[in-house]
Amino acid sequence: MSSFDVVVIGSGPGGYVSAIRCAQLGFNTAIIEKYPTLGGTCLNVGCIPSKALLDSSHHYHDATKHFTEHGIDIAGEIKVNLEQMIARKQGVVDQNVSGVKYLMDKNKITVLEGVGSFEDATHVKVTKNDGSSETIEAKNVIIATGSKPATLPFIEIDKERIITSTEALKMKEVPKHLVIIGGGVIGLELGQVYLRLGAKVSVIEYLDRIIPGMDASLSKELTKVLKKQGMKFYTKHKVKSVARNGDEVKVEAENAKGETITLDGDYALVSVGRRAFTEGLDAEKAGVTINDKGMVEVNEHLQTSASNIYAIGDVVRGAMLAHKAEEEGVFVAETLAGQKPHIDYNLIPGVVYTWPEVAAVGKTEEELKEAGVEYKSGSFPFKALGRSRASMDTDGFVKILADAKTDEVLGVHMIGARTADLIAEAVTAMEFRASAEDISRMSHAHPTYAEGVKEAALAATDNRPIHM
Ligand code: FAD
Repeated sequence: MSSFDVVVIGSGPGGYVSAIRCAQLGFNTAIIEKYPTLGGTCLNVGCIPSKALLDSSHHYHDATKHFTEHGIDIAGEIKVNLEQMIARKQGVVDQNVSGVKYLMDKNKITVLEGVGSFEDATHVKVTKNDGSSETIEAKNVIIATGSKPATLPFIEIDKERIITSTEALKMKEVPKHLVIIGGGVIGLELGQVYLRLGAKVSVIEYLDRIIPGMDASLSKELTKVLKKQGMKFYTKHKVKSVARNGDEVKVEAENAKGETITLDGDYALVSVGRRAFTEGLDAEKAGVTINDKGMVEVNEHLQTSASNIYAIGDVVRGAMLAHKAEEEGVFVAETLAGQKPHIDYNLIPGVVYTWPEVAAVGKTEEELKEAGVEYKSGSFPFKALGRSRASMDTDGFVKILADAKTDEVLGVHMIGARTADLIAEAVTAMEFRASAEDISRMSHAHPTYAEGVKEAALAATDNRPIHM
């Protein structure tokens, strides 16, 4: 029987990063993945393919809406070739997953294809697709089995017309009317892809605003911009039924007054969140507790109820984000090596890759108010920046929240061009417990979108932005 220091179950960003860090630290490591490709949700049906389609559809949007203004005349009709767009996306996915395989080989990590299930706390059975199996021995196990799309009890996903994000990433046609159930990150990103490609897109959200976990000002601005682009919103609407009739879907929702609206579309995308995935793991045989939300229960060291078994990523509490899973993967590997790693969950940034992009880190205004923290706020609109005007990306703003007395930055919230990248500056500043004035006194290259961060810091420090 093969024996390993560490066996990782699941090869998403949590699992594969953890396996690499374990190997770097000298552990004899194996990783088990039930699918033939490595990389998990993120690389195969999540972060990477969605960004590939966002980029392709963005080019189409620019070509049809902005090129003329830039002085670029294209002779003839500009058309979408969806088959090619999806094929390019798949090429990007293939490159990334083979990159992970290369990294496994480079780090001498044993890759086992099959479903991993516990026989007990130190033995994991790997069952291949053809039904054959082998059992391996593990001193330590890291559960990184991720998540799957959630649905509502009365919705039957048929994967053809009533679909999840997985199917929305490989459509054969541009929908005429895509009805999106859930105004969170995944629904909005995929909604914008098909909106740009010519679909009518309607979003139904149960709460009073889209991206409800983020600062309300971001939600307001994103709603404004997406409405301007043509997306329709039905907030404070509770979906009551989703029915398919041939190539049509009918979605019924009830508003706050108890009135029912009916949306007729040709596809309904159910994006109401994701649920932790532990099916087939036989966690109970190892003494690993799964909580009532279906997540693996862990302590502050990400250790499960079985002392040699840890769990990371979407399968445990906290934000369902690839970079959170990665940090946890490194954390567990270093813990196993006797180090004392640390993760500040308050400083895990959240990003929406629509255009304009939305990005945030730290506390929202709502959270600071709720906690009774005295804070000051400084905002700066991108339209006041030379860089934004040069590219005609003038939507959005940067908002910095700082402690009223100490000036320490408590939260940074931005919407605009390239904010997904700009947020890294805010994370760095907050990791080093910078004050708003610290940021405002650092030189930011001109002309860049990053100047918006400096200007917002000036506004937060002393209400003294230069260009406003
Ligand atoms: P996963 O990536 O879900 O990987 C788990 C792996 O475990 C899977 O490969 C699964 O097959 C395997 N597995 C499960 N059970 C077993 C078993 N018993 N035996 C063997 N293998 C098993 N996050 C971001 O940070 N940025 C984004 O831009 C972003 N975009 C997204 C877009 C979409 C459309 C979706 C759906 C998600 C997106 N996410 C994004 C979320 C991100 O994909 C997840 O947070 C991330 O993949 C979680 O990583 P993980 O390692 O915990 O699990």
